[in-house]
Amino acid sequence: MIQIDLTGQVAVVTGGSSGIGFATAELFLQAGASVAICGRDAERLSRAEQRLRERFPQAQLLATRCNVLDATDVSAFADAVHTRFGATHMLVNNAGQGRVSTFADTTDDAWREELELKYFSIIRPTRAFLPMLRAAAAAASGNACGNASIVCVNSLLALQPEPHMVATSSARAGVLSLIKSLAGELAPEHIRVNSILIGIVESGQWRRRYEAQEPRGRSWDDWTRALARKKNIPLGRFGLPEEAAQALFYLATALSSYTTGSHIDVSGGVARHV
Ligand code: NDP
Repeated sequence: MIQIDLTGQVAVVTGGSSGIGFATAELFLQAGASVAICGRDAERLSRAEQRLRERFPQAQLLATRCNVLDATDVSAFADAVHTRFGATHMLVNNAGQGRVSTFADTTDDAWREELELKYFSIIRPTRAFLPMLRAAAAAASGNACGNASIVCVNSLLALQPEPHMVATSSARAGVLSLIKSLAGELAPEHIRVNSILIGIVESGQWRRRYEAQEPRGRSWDDWTRALARKKNIPLGRFGLPEEAAQALFYLATALSSYTTGSHIDVSGGVARHV
């Protein structure tokens, strides 16, 4: 694996207390970055912080309770990062979850909630951390491989909608457009903006679905393998949080210094388009 030293750089991961966000925080810490994570549930966040501190005793780590849909929370989170680390070089907009519903059973309120989650989980943190990202980009000016970046976790549903996730698919497509526009607007300031399009990744939300939906006592492994078969995932399994995290890490760091407005498919081959 390519080694990259992120000492002196600050990475912010929204929704870093579980799944993909947690795995991404681990990668940043492993590379020497200072890392800030957030989540809504204080207990889950504190457990995540403890696990990260056990694994990386020297970690420069900040864990702040924050709902990314709450403007006050987000601005307090950005202030806390500024006070603690004085900078942000990489923002990973990861917080969120999917919504399983068809057009027939999605109410107006459910549409609003889903659109709000998908858009504002990117808009609010991006707005709040932009001044620090701008400062990081300005400080790196003249260095072609200097780094200031935003990476968003998006889903393959953006390009390949599923009728049973109608609102999520539609919002994901809109967000892909938002990310492209943002990349165009911020490129002259040398802030790169990219995303990953994931298929199914083993994580907290799938564990919760397994617990809620599996009445036959099948093991997690059997349940996920059966689902992978049913969903025709060419690689035959769910992705791992680390696999999504590695793509996020690549797009967040100077490893991808000449890439912006782009996305990486991390779907196990599910994409049907060329
Ligand atoms: P997890 O449930 O394991 O992690 C989600 C994380 O986001 C948790 O830390 C959660 O903490 C946090 N979070 C959720 N909502 C908010 C909020 N409003 N404000 C702050 N934090 C929040 O799931 P994943 O790792 O799978 O999810 C990561 C991202 O990947 C999500 O955006 C999800 O939609 C997306 N995704 C995942 C797929 C998959 O198959 N796993 C497929 C497609 C997309 P807390 O609940 O305490 O706030």
